[in-house]
Amino acid sequence: MALGAMQHWLLRVTSLIDHAEREHPTREIVSAWADGSVTRTNWQEVARNARRMAQALEAGGVGRGERVATLAMNHARHLTAWYGACGMGGVVHTINPRLFPDQLTYIVNHAEDRVLLYDALFAPLVEKMKPHWPTIETYACFDPPAGWSGDVAFEEWLAPFDGDYRWAEGDERDPCGLCYTSGTTGNPKGVLYEHRSTILHAMAEVSPDVMGLSARSVALPIVPMFHANAWGLPWAAPIAGCKLVLSADYRPERMCALFRDEGVTHSAGVPTVWIEMIAFIERTGADLGPLEQVVIGGSAAPRAMIEWLRARGIAVGHAWGMTETSPIGTIGAPPANWGEMDEAAQVAFISRQGRVPFGVELRIVDDEGRVLPRDGEASGRLQIRGPWVVQRYFKAEEDAVDADGWFDTGDVAILHPDGTMQITDRSKDVIKSGGEWISSIELENAALGFPGVLEAAAIGIAHPKWDERPLLCVVRKPGAEVCPDALRAHLAGQVAKWWLPDAIEFVDDLPHTATGKISKKQLRERFTGYAFAGTEAMTGRD
Ligand code: ADP
Repeated sequence: MALGAMQHWLLRVTSLIDHAEREHPTREIVSAWADGSVTRTNWQEVARNARRMAQALEAGGVGRGERVATLAMNHARHLTAWYGACGMGGVVHTINPRLFPDQLTYIVNHAEDRVLLYDALFAPLVEKMKPHWPTIETYACFDPPAGWSGDVAFEEWLAPFDGDYRWAEGDERDPCGLCYTSGTTGNPKGVLYEHRSTILHAMAEVSPDVMGLSARSVALPIVPMFHANAWGLPWAAPIAGCKLVLSADYRPERMCALFRDEGVTHSAGVPTVWIEMIAFIERTGADLGPLEQVVIGGSAAPRAMIEWLRARGIAVGHAWGMTETSPIGTIGAPPANWGEMDEAAQVAFISRQGRVPFGVELRIVDDEGRVLPRDGEASGRLQIRGPWVVQRYFKAEEDAVDADGWFDTGDVAILHPDGTMQITDRSKDVIKSGGEWISSIELENAALGFPGVLEAAAIGIAHPKWDERPLLCVVRKPGAEVCPDALRAHLAGQVAKWWLPDAIEFVDDLPHTATGKISKKQLRERFTGYAFAGTEAMTGRD
């Protein structure tokens, strides 16, 4: 049969920046720098500078498909670098500066990065790592301070070029981005995004039930561009032509000032970020300006946090995703019967991880791979497939998916009849007690609803009779007292009796991963050899 007769336009990310340059040229991109200063540019200038950067890369001998790395926080030059690298047919590799030196050595060599663009903040790290990064030929610093005598400044590097450049052409399935997962076990694994997957993801992202971005939106991601592409916002923003506020500094006082001064309507970040923001606002009475919507993801959004934001008229989109899923997998947007739900039902709905946007599909399976029903009861291994889900890790010989394209996420979840997905746990964090599972997320959620609790993490501790029993670690709010018995009584009202932690430990802090999530792995290491007192009497299962 003959093909249809419509135009064949390749989905390449350069069309995103072309669109913003043409249709929203003067819409602002604001950068809040680490030194406290604020600078302003717009889509038109970002597009022009991206073309200059593409020229600089070509002049430097970087070839199509080669990797251009960044080690940087969020700002307009970093945004420019993404479009510049992809625009000349390269692949932008965002590196997480919080990784350990041996991981940094591994990923740069594995990626065979040719260029590294970095923030002055990371200059000491870069100097230390240079001998371990033989593939990098060009280093440039995004924001050299006065008196800098190091690598060439980004702006100087671009200075000889005029921006008279036509974007490289190629296939829509060419790679355009590379991001490594933090690799809690083994070496980090690279996810190689394509032009097409990135565009499809970005188009889904702007839609009303995902991030709901429009030309009127002002978006401030509090998620770094090296954490799963700042959740895709730098690719989605030019579609909507929204104003972007990029900050290299996430301290709550800076965030609140930006929210107010820049009129931020949309924001996104991991729960740890919002815990700090909320504590700051409660302490100082700062306000959040015209903020309308907050997307929380990366780890489970605690119910108390959702309630706090909603009480201030801010809608919460609870999102789930992974580096392997570009990253949006699901997000909670109001369903058709929202108006009939009372406050408690709405909060319960948002506490789940939401529904898939058009494009991806979910299922849960048991350990033998049998598909489980979407009945709100069965809990199983969560699998996902779709055009913005990984097929194979970078340079891997085998696919990361089964024959039907299903990628096993390593998460354990329930699918509800209304389509919402609820993460019970990561399979490696679930607490296995007496042959059954205790959801660490549920326990933490319940604890976070108790006054005086700032952060909470539940881990399984080896137990002679029950295999594992929960230990709850709690960080108190500054100056707050928390009575362990009262906390236990509060938990007893929210979770099954046999889920109650055998012990509660108050700690000064909890370990966090390179993306700001609580590191259960490190926490378990901290409590290696921990023994419960009077365990037998306290399990409550007999
Ligand atoms: P990593 O945390 O391993 O560096 P990712 O940032 O890709 O890598 O994290 C993906 C994982 O984060 C998911 O598999 C899931 O376990 C967890 N996660 C993400 N969003 C949520 C959420 N809303 N609720 C619970 N867990 C989440």
